[in-house]
Amino acid sequence: MAGVKEKHTVLTSDGAQDYILERKNVKNINLRVKPDCTIYVSAPNRVSVREIESFIRSRSRYIRRATEYFRTRPKTERTELKYVSGEKIKLLGTDVEIKVVQDTSEYSERDGSNLYIHVKDKDNEERRKKLFSAWLDEICREIFTEVMHDVYEKFSEYSLMFPQLKLRTMTSRWGSCHPYKKIITLNRRLIEAPRHCIEQVVAHEFCHFVHPDHSKDFYALLQRIYPEWRYSKAVLESLVVL
Ligand SMILES: [Zn+2]
Repeated sequence: MAGVKEKHTVLTSDGAQDYILERKNVKNINLRVKPDCTIYVSAPNRVSVREIESFIRSRSRYIRRATEYFRTRPKTERTELKYVSGEKIKLLGTDVEIKVVQDTSEYSERDGSNLYIHVKDKDNEERRKKLFSAWLDEICREIFTEVMHDVYEKFSEYSLMFPQLKLRTMTSRWGSCHPYKKIITLNRRLIEAPRHCIEQVVAHEFCHFVHPDHSKDFYALLQRIYPEWRYSKAVLESLVVL
């Protein structure tokens, strides 16, 4: 949850550059190029658009490099999955190998470091994908709900309602929350990361039930609830590329 976002355009040495400006309770101007190559700037209210745009121009080298990186980086394994034997996926930070089994009944089941996809027609990729996705949703629900219960306990003094979990596959964020509807949405791809990384995201979203913004109070609460959040966030961002 955050402040008001506006779309602006600035003229730089590389031409017209669109950016999203968000006014929020921050100390300085922050600039970030997102994986979809949008430029995102957050700034305190007192800073003028002129100052912000001169800041953007001063970061043009970074913007060029980051944009180039996101445009040309290789696609992640997940998007290339064909759901065939021998393919590896990440689950809670470890490798799991897919094994396709011809069977009269259809289901997916994990046994240690193997994920068996039982399918009637081994050559039907769509069917294999469907069985895999059903399994993935199930494991995401199971693990994420467990983590949510652990984090929920740390908030006992706030008498919060236990939120509803929604799963999504997102390319620019790990999670989001709806403080009023009591919903936490988590990115399925979190399941690839070690559990502490998932905890960090869930702790972040839970803190929004107390502080909907990213204010000082929000970070003070996150720090108290999950002191290792910076470390876990860094690990997550280095292991799973959205
Ligand atoms: Zn947040």
